[in-house]
Amino acid sequence: MAGFYSDFGIDEHVSAYCEGILAPLRARFDAIDAIAERNQAKVLRAMQQNRVDAACFAGSTGYGYNDAGRDTLERVYADAFHTQSALVRPQLVCGTHALAVALSANLLPGDELLSPVGKPYDTLEEVIGIRPAACSLKEYSVSYRQVDLLPDGGFDYDGIRAAINEKTKLITIQRSKGYAMRPTLSVARIGELIRFCKACKPDVLCMVDNCYGEFVEPIEPSDVGADMIVGSLIKNPGGGLAPIGGYICGTRACVDRCAYRLSAPGLGQEVGASLDVKTALYQGFFMAPVTVAGALKGAIFAARLYESLGFRVIPDGQEPRYDIIQAVELGSAEKLIAFCEGIQAAAPVDSYVRPVPAPMPGYDSDVIMAAGAFVQGSSIELSADGPLRPPYSVYFQGGLTWYHAKLGIMMSLQKLYEKGLVSLPEAI
Ligand SMILES: *Cc1c(COP(=O)(O)O)cnc(C)c1O
Repeated sequence: MAGFYSDFGIDEHVSAYCEGILAPLRARFDAIDAIAERNQAKVLRAMQQNRVDAACFAGSTGYGYNDAGRDTLERVYADAFHTQSALVRPQLVCGTHALAVALSANLLPGDELLSPVGKPYDTLEEVIGIRPAACSLKEYSVSYRQVDLLPDGGFDYDGIRAAINEKTKLITIQRSKGYAMRPTLSVARIGELIRFCKACKPDVLCMVDNCYGEFVEPIEPSDVGADMIVGSLIKNPGGGLAPIGGYICGTRACVDRCAYRLSAPGLGQEVGASLDVKTALYQGFFMAPVTVAGALKGAIFAARLYESLGFRVIPDGQEPRYDIIQAVELGSAEKLIAFCEGIQAAAPVDSYVRPVPAPMPGYDSDVIMAAGAFVQGSSIELSADGPLRPPYSVYFQGGLTWYHAKLGIMMSLQKLYEKGLVSLPEAI
C-alpha cells in the first residue's frame, strides 16, 4: 500500500506511521461493523415489509397527488426508526428547516420551549429568537428557556425540574455536540432525560435534533421515548446519495401537524411532488448504515493519529462515539490551513483547488473550509472546517467510504509533515 499511497504524494514515513496507528484499531472497527450490520438489517426489513418496488422510484410533478413511492419511503423511514409516522421530503430544504417546521408546527402562541442541554445549534438561535430574527418563534409569542449542562457534562435535573412549568409544551434535545464543546449524548442518556422530563410533565413533547447521530448506535432516540426525531438528508440518513431533503419521524399527531405546517392546513402529506429524487433517497437510506460506519472509522483514526502526535482531540481516541464529528485542536493557523489543504487534495471533486481562509457571515474571524463533494455542502462526505482563531480547532466529519476517509486523513498529515509543522516519532 505504501507505494500506492506515494502516487498521491504521501511520504512513506507518513503512510508507515498511519498504518502503525491503525493496527490496534481493528477490534474497535469490528464493533462498528457489527452496529452497521444491525442497522443494515433494520433498513432492509423496512424496505421489504413495505414492498418497495421499481414503481416507487417514478417521479411525480405538480401537486404530487397519489405519489405512492413518496408515501412508501415515508413508511420505510417510520418502520426503520420505529415511529408511527414520518415526513421525508425534498421540500424540507435542510436540517434547520426540518427542525423549524417541527418546532413551529407543535408550538402555539403562549407555549414555552425548553432546551435542557444548553445552547442549541447556531442556526436554531434565529429560529427560536435567541438572536432576534424575522419570523422567529419568539415573534409568534413562543417563549424559550434553557438549562445548561453541569460542568461535568451531566444533566442539571434540579434545574430542569424547576424550569418545567405549565407553559412548557416542547422539550428540544440535541444529540450531537455539533460545533460546541459539550459531550455528544448517547441514546441511552437521551432516554433517561426524556423519562425524567415526562415524569415532571407527562404530556410534554420531546423532540430530538438527531443530526449526525443516525445509525451511529443500533437504536435511535425514537426507541427511547422521543415524540419526534429530526434530521438532514445531506448528513447521515441520506447515505451521501440524497441530493436534498430532511426528515421528521414521530407520533402521528406530531408529524401530521408538521405536514400541515410544511404544505398548508388541510393539505398536509397529500401534496408535494418528489420530482426525480426518490431513487437517490431510497438508495441513500439503504447505504447509510455503511456510510456512517466508514465516517466513524475515519473519526476514530484521526483522533488516535493526532492524539499520538500530542494534539488535543475531542472526543479522544478511546471514548465511545455518539456522532461522526471529530475536533482536533491544531494550535496554529498554519497547521489548520495545512490540514484543510490535505482534506481538499484527497477529494474526488475539486481536488485541484486550494482552500483559503475567508470571512463568513456570523463569524468574528476568517473561516477555512475544505470539501470536495458530489452534493454541495454535504457533510456526510469528507469535509473539514475551522475558524482562524485560537485554539485553531478543525472540525471534520464524513467520508463516503472508509478508504477515502483514511486517505483524506493521511493527506492532512502529509501536508503538515511536508511543511515541517509536525515531526513523526520513528516508530510506535
Ligand atoms: C447540521 C446540524 C443542524 C442544521 O442542519 P443544516 O442542514 O445545516 O441546516 C442542526 N443541528 C445539528 C446538531 C446539526 O449538526
